[in-house]
Amino acid sequence: MRVHETAQGASAVDIPTRRMALRAGLCLVAAMATPIPAFAKALATKPNRELSFVNLHTGERLKAEYVHNGAYVPSALRAISVLMRDHHNNKIHPIDPHLIDVAHMLHSRVRSNVSLNIVCGYRSPETNAMMHEISAGVAVHSMHIQGKAMDIRLPGTHLAALKKTALALDLGGVGYYPEDNFLHIDTGAKRHWVA
Ligand SMILES: [Zn+2]
Repeated sequence: MRVHETAQGASAVDIPTRRMALRAGLCLVAAMATPIPAFAKALATKPNRELSFVNLHTGERLKAEYVHNGAYVPSALRAISVLMRDHHNNKIHPIDPHLIDVAHMLHSRVRSNVSLNIVCGYRSPETNAMMHEISAGVAVHSMHIQGKAMDIRLPGTHLAALKKTALALDLGGVGYYPEDNFLHIDTGAKRHWVA
């Protein structure tokens, strides 16, 4: 944060230093505009991104080009959020586009040709509280509540292989649930666990 402090204190210093500070400040702004550089780097070669989904609870299917010419497609993101809604009460919440990117990378790295099976996407606070009562494995402050987590499986790909690939991506959280046959991925802090 030294850069930020320098930029703020620039009024009292001479012009060249001030110019440098301003330039540094602009660099900081540029860095902030790309909150997760790792995603940008990993996806730079894929300006068009398409992914197919099936919600295992509702049976709904969707094939969406959610990134076109390097830009997220709002209508596709909305359709994905609808598909990944809380099926208990039909509540919809925006799904983090970076989470879809993680799923996209995972899907392509394991070279799967089947739709991403959604076991759980968005989970409303009410549903989360209800599930937490039933299962100790459901966190009180689950990332699912923020639309930043999904539980998935990919028929034809071993869950262990999916987990290994997700860990290799080195982005966000990875939870391995072999008994329930799904992998949890989220865009929170890097961490991993086994149920
Ligand atoms: Zn989960």
